[in-house]
Amino acid sequence: MTVNVTVTGAAGQIGYALLFRIASGQLLGPDTPVRLRLLEIPAAVKAAEGTAMELDDSAFPLLEGIDVTDDAKHAFDGTNVALLVGARPRTKGMERGDLLEANGGIFKPQGEAINSGAASDVRVLVVGNPANTNALIARSHAPDVPAERFTAMTRLDHNRAIAQLSKRLDAAVADVKKMTIWGNHSATQYPDVFHAEVRGQNAAQALNDAEWLRDTFIPTVAKRGAAIIEARGASSAASAASAAIDHVHTWIHGTPEGDWTSMAVVSDGSYGVPEGLVSSFPVVCKDGKWEIVQGLDINQFSRERIDASVRELEEERDAVRELGLI
Ligand code: NDP
Repeated sequence: MTVNVTVTGAAGQIGYALLFRIASGQLLGPDTPVRLRLLEIPAAVKAAEGTAMELDDSAFPLLEGIDVTDDAKHAFDGTNVALLVGARPRTKGMERGDLLEANGGIFKPQGEAINSGAASDVRVLVVGNPANTNALIARSHAPDVPAERFTAMTRLDHNRAIAQLSKRLDAAVADVKKMTIWGNHSATQYPDVFHAEVRGQNAAQALNDAEWLRDTFIPTVAKRGAAIIEARGASSAASAASAAIDHVHTWIHGTPEGDWTSMAVVSDGSYGVPEGLVSSFPVVCKDGKWEIVQGLDINQFSRERIDASVRELEEERDAVRELGLI
């Protein structure tokens, strides 16, 4: 059956890298036809139409159609997978409250449109920053959609952490399992290797280097976005798109046996993360559903870092609550 996929911010950098991979079958699998809905602000509709022309020109056998629109209701009508990439970037002199308010103006109506028009199996991934809190806003305006269908992306952080660890230990990325990103997709995120395994061995033990972990690994993963901007002169786009593909693919097709992934999901109170916050956890996916991995021992080092990131999420939640956005 054809799957309807909506991408917002379709004319942006991430959108450009993302759409071709969706159309080629990498999001949903090689047997699933896809129909794309591209949502943009009016000023960027023409650019999105240009991308749609290029998608046509690629003659993807699985691509059944493309619609470009600036109307959220139309974009989300009947959608099965919604990738919310477009967001209001922070500009010079902008306070955090202004940023949250501007994004509330985007994610509130999108949540409402998803609530009223999306397919009953809709799955939502928020990529646009501040992703966790944007997901919280959208979810608050979609009361008829089960809360577990709203997620935010920490998969890029997860993938970055795997890459750094594998390089340090001279292992293949495929040898690294059970990496975890906790908390917010921001500089406070906590990449946790204490439960990770490398070639079957506990990663923290294999590293045996607390200093590298604290002073190099964690900041390198958390500040990788800034390092890419510095090197490339533009923010990461292809790797973010790749992580979005990974996130949805894993959600639908499942995590491999003996492994898990990281997703920001609505907390049920696990690991002391207040219920309702959209926070990153270790999750396993099976039969199209995610579940938070339970029963992990959290040491003091991890506890402090998880708590700090969760505190930031609480502050963001309180700020959008004060603004009347949730
Ligand atoms: P990008 O496509 O580069 O980024 C889009 C969003 O993804 C930003 O919020 C960005 O956050 C975020 N993001 C999350 N993780 C990452 C990551 N690891 N690396 C880089 N970005 C990440 O932005 P563009 O400016 O190129 O394009 C945005 C498009 O969205 C524009 O075409 C604009 O018109 C559109 N837009 C559409 C809306 C709609 O459809 N209603 C609403 C608002 C905008 P960060 O800024 O923090 O890097």
